[in-house]
Amino acid sequence: MNCIFCKIIANEVESSKVYEDDNILAFMDLHPVNEGQVLVVPKEHIDHFSDIPEELALKIFSKSHQISKKIKEKLNPERVGFVVHGYGVAHAHLIIIPQKCSTDIAHGKMAKIEDGKIIFTVDNLPMVPRVELDKVAKIIKDSLL
Ligand SMILES: [Zn+2]
Repeated sequence: MNCIFCKIIANEVESSKVYEDDNILAFMDLHPVNEGQVLVVPKEHIDHFSDIPEELALKIFSKSHQISKKIKEKLNPERVGFVVHGYGVAHAHLIIIPQKCSTDIAHGKMAKIEDGKIIFTVDNLPMVPRVELDKVAKIIKDSLL
């Protein structure tokens, strides 16, 4: 399998490890938005985060929460965010992102150019009518039963 995260887990590729146990690994991101960005992955190769068994997903979130507290305490970012976007490497990963400003985690759909500068604002995202929100909420809610 040609998965960079599996190679990191197998110690075939160098990484700067933050935490490791039998099931998960946390290591420094090579391409951070800001200093202190950490990736937390299951050791088992699972592509989609939503396919991770619940107990393992909870362990990833729990350890990520613990790591974020230490990042906040030791590196002093303004905020610490979490992202699971599912792109990049096809091996589920939660990204812990120390943030220095509100655009450190932003979506391209939020961008607009104003006075020659790129501005990120939710004002660029369409407000969804309540009837549509309720419709999708029902689909999700009913599937949770
Ligand atoms: Zn993998």
